[in-house]
Amino acid sequence: MNGAEQDAVTAQLFRYAQDLDQLMQQHKRLQQHHQMTLQSLGREVPGENLLPQLLARAASMHWTTDLEGEVLHCGPQNPSPWALCAAAQPGQNLLLLVPAPQQMRLRLLLAHFASAGSKACAVRLRLSLQVQAGSPAEQVFDALLMPLNQEGHHQVSWILQSGGTDCVDTAACLADLLRAVPAEQGAMAANPQGSICAVSPGYCRMTGYSAQELLGNNPRMLSSGRHDAGFYHGLWFELLDSGSWSGTLFNRRKDGQIFLQWQAIRMVEDLDGKVLCYLSATVDLSYTDPSVKRLETIAYTDPLTGLPNRRLLTDRLTLALGEAHRVGESLALLFIDLDRFKPINDELGHNVGDQVLQAVARRLREGLLPDDLLARLGGDEFVVVLYGQQRVQMAEAIAAQLLSVLKAPLHIQNCAMTLSASIGCARFPQDAEDMLSLLQCADAAMYGAKRFGIPFCYFDVGMDDAGRPNLELELWQAVERGEISLVYQPQVNSDATHTLRGVEALMRWNHPILGDVDPIQFIGMAERSGAIVPLGYWALYHACAQLRSWREQALPAFTLSLNISLRQLRHPDFFEQVQQALALNQLQAGQLEMELSETQAMLFVQSDTHHVRTLRQLGVRIAIDDYGISFSSLSRLNLLSISSFKLNQQCVQDLTNSADARAISNCMISIGKAMGIEVIAQGVETAAQAQLLKQQGCQVLQGFYTGAPLSAEALADMLKAG
Ligand code: C2E
Ligand code: CA
Repeated sequence: MNGAEQDAVTAQLFRYAQDLDQLMQQHKRLQQHHQMTLQSLGREVPGENLLPQLLARAASMHWTTDLEGEVLHCGPQNPSPWALCAAAQPGQNLLLLVPAPQQMRLRLLLAHFASAGSKACAVRLRLSLQVQAGSPAEQVFDALLMPLNQEGHHQVSWILQSGGTDCVDTAACLADLLRAVPAEQGAMAANPQGSICAVSPGYCRMTGYSAQELLGNNPRMLSSGRHDAGFYHGLWFELLDSGSWSGTLFNRRKDGQIFLQWQAIRMVEDLDGKVLCYLSATVDLSYTDPSVKRLETIAYTDPLTGLPNRRLLTDRLTLALGEAHRVGESLALLFIDLDRFKPINDELGHNVGDQVLQAVARRLREGLLPDDLLARLGGDEFVVVLYGQQRVQMAEAIAAQLLSVLKAPLHIQNCAMTLSASIGCARFPQDAEDMLSLLQCADAAMYGAKRFGIPFCYFDVGMDDAGRPNLELELWQAVERGEISLVYQPQVNSDATHTLRGVEALMRWNHPILGDVDPIQFIGMAERSGAIVPLGYWALYHACAQLRSWREQALPAFTLSLNISLRQLRHPDFFEQVQQALALNQLQAGQLEMELSETQAMLFVQSDTHHVRTLRQLGVRIAIDDYGISFSSLSRLNLLSISSFKLNQQCVQDLTNSADARAISNCMISIGKAMGIEVIAQGVETAAQAQLLKQQGCQVLQGFYTGAPLSAEALADMLKAG
């Protein structure tokens, strides 16, 4: 490493250290805040001495001494040699019972406790003690020495167990002691690798797990998800740095319930500084203290709606993102903002406004699955977290579902109102990787929806980039500027008549600078941003009006096919608009065909199938576009009661040079025949392709061979010319 590289690494390490320091300070502040709140509720706060206090109650041999070894409190509850030992009574010095060589080491240890303070780690050692002062008879004990802070005075807790057992695993040796810990509190020991080795009965009761279920596992199994990685990082840093950690912590019981506990952890070392185990003592604050339960509820719940608040959302979201990252899952965030909520609040009063928000919360909750997280950020803003690829793929359908439940009329204090909302969606990992950015992206997408006047909008990278030429923004204005038009491609019957079966309307964008923009490019852009919804409506009205105009020119009747995207289908007004466009132009529904691509049909959720059925009931024809790309299940497509398949272009183009393509098209045409579904081949460019398709029984051909897309006028001229 050269000098410059070394400097860079040093600077980086310095930044890490600063981050860590900040983290620690933040953690301390939170801890203090939590303790103060507990105290303000009049509750006793268990302190850092919890572990020695707990073990002292469990041990049959226990003393408290000062840092010189003088006995302050003598605690053998059970008869033991010590109970009778005058040398171990208050005022005596325990060190005098220790043979000279060990006495020296003990004095050094107590001096270390004096300098390290009450938070230092515990030390486990084997002690040979002269049970009777002045008597040469020695007895071996396993001792655990822990510094204590008693109202500002440093003291030492001595816990003795009859020793001599050659127990390799210190935590396991402490099991007897832990078993005697009073049932209302919990104690647990973990080995240096972090596996639980011993638990007290109270710990099992508190967590809901049996000892067998806990032993051998990492305490992580109890994690509640309410603390981020920074919290645990801080905990371990303090534990390893000072030898102990104490504070409040949320854990999760076996039944899934989250509970607040006070936990005091000590690292246990031998005299040489080798880590032997981690001991922890726990008090279940929620269990013993209903006011803490209340506090917890207040801290994490929005009081108006009872939904999780911003704090709980950020906790859960951080955790969910961490998990998604680890297992390669995806996650979507829906940012929901009510439309025109301010006038409701201003004109009808806050009381009505509050009731509206409560009703919205209820409706949104009912429109989601129990695993979807719904939180209120404040005001009229709500957030939904959808976890897992399946839910993420359904994000738009879920948003449509929420919008439709919101739309139902609402009556509050004799006021009837209809609510609507704008929903922005950002997804992990494609839009953002961290919690804050994801929230920002979803927020930006929500603003996008409002700006564009559509109910739902995905986040798009170009969204806020006002500086650069923004095609996406221009696309929103393209209709108004008269830059969008439709061309119509003939679909010709393959029989000898070669009559016109119909035309497919295809959209064109003539940009003032770029000229004709590739439809694949701008349609994709419009799909992502939601602009496809207004563009699609324009196409629907425009094409229907065109069909009427052709009829008025006395051209023979034919079908009009329109490409429809899933976003249009899911729009709450879609069905009404279709009816209106037909009625306005006095068209029969059967003259209109809607093409939905097979890939989109595969993303159908129940409500989509319902929309398609409603269209079919109206009489509109449904075609599956680009059929054969995704090999979707036929039974599923059949549910849609479709009227046509459109063979995908690739298959048609490979027909003359690939036996596989011929087999596939043959198979699809046969399936179509068997199911009574018309088959249209698209992308037919040559006579050879047309011939083959005809032989296989394909009824309709579309492509440059039978006719390129034409303007409405050109098509009319062609038909008039016969
Ligand atoms: P699509 O629905 O598969 O439309 C057929 C595409 O194939 C059209 O491309 C058409 O111009 C082109 N084509 C027609 N005959 C031939 C041929 O013989 N050979 C070849 N190579 N291509 C042929 P276009 O117009 O670029 O449209 C691309 C896609 O954009 C369409 O694919 C459709 O998915 C979408 N699209 C176009 N207009 C609309 C619309 O109004 N709404 C929606 N939602 N999507 C549209
Ligand atoms: Ca099409």
